[in-house]
Amino acid sequence: MNNLTTLIQAINFAAKKHSAQKRKGADEQPYINHPLEVINLLASAGNIEDYDVLIAAVLHDTIEDTETTEEEITRLFGANVCGMVLEVTDDKSLPKAERKQLQIEHAPHLSDGAKRIKLADKISNIRDVTENPPDGWSKERRLEYVEWGENVIDGLRGVNLNLEKRFDETVAEAREKFQSR
Ligand code: NDP
Ligand code: ZN
Repeated sequence: MNNLTTLIQAINFAAKKHSAQKRKGADEQPYINHPLEVINLLASAGNIEDYDVLIAAVLHDTIEDTETTEEEITRLFGANVCGMVLEVTDDKSLPKAERKQLQIEHAPHLSDGAKRIKLADKISNIRDVTENPPDGWSKERRLEYVEWGENVIDGLRGVNLNLEKRFDETVAEAREKFQSR
């Protein structure tokens, strides 16, 4: 099987796994829009052509947020892809504050592929927090999310300048929007 076919299979797999989920914003976008935005950022802004990174990126929330198992991802997409997905998967048995702190602490130790995925994931989520935030989030909470995202990303810089620039622009746009309200 060639790389493009495997990537398309991963997109199809993620679409099925996330099919019952919506994003938390008021417009209730289909959840799959987020992993698709993440691979688009990696390919279009980051110029990333490493298929394993793109495949892991589209799968990045399947283990954390759906019934998907590690074994399933390894069998279908290989150990390298599964490793990167696991690197960006939070341990949901831990309290949220601890998970947030661990993301900051783990960021410098991620593989380069996982760092790139994390960058695109945070760009996508900060865009959502700016343009289409979860219901009931105050301006302060949205700003806290942006600041936390900056703390995570500060620990993994140096892997893709274009994505880092896009991240910084996204943070600047978020701050500008919050300040103008
Ligand atoms: P959550 O982890 O509950 O929600 C954010 C996550 O939800 C994102 O990382 C994203 O993860 C996913 N998501 C789905 N839809 C959206 C969307 N439309 N916009 C953004 N994200 C979406 O956030 P927390 O509860 O952890 O809150 C973030 C910050 O707020 C923390 O720093 C926390 O300390 C603080 N906080 C503040 C409170 C306050 O009232 N001031 C109360 C509670 C927390 P994925 O990529 O996995 O989909
Ligand atoms: Zn995500």
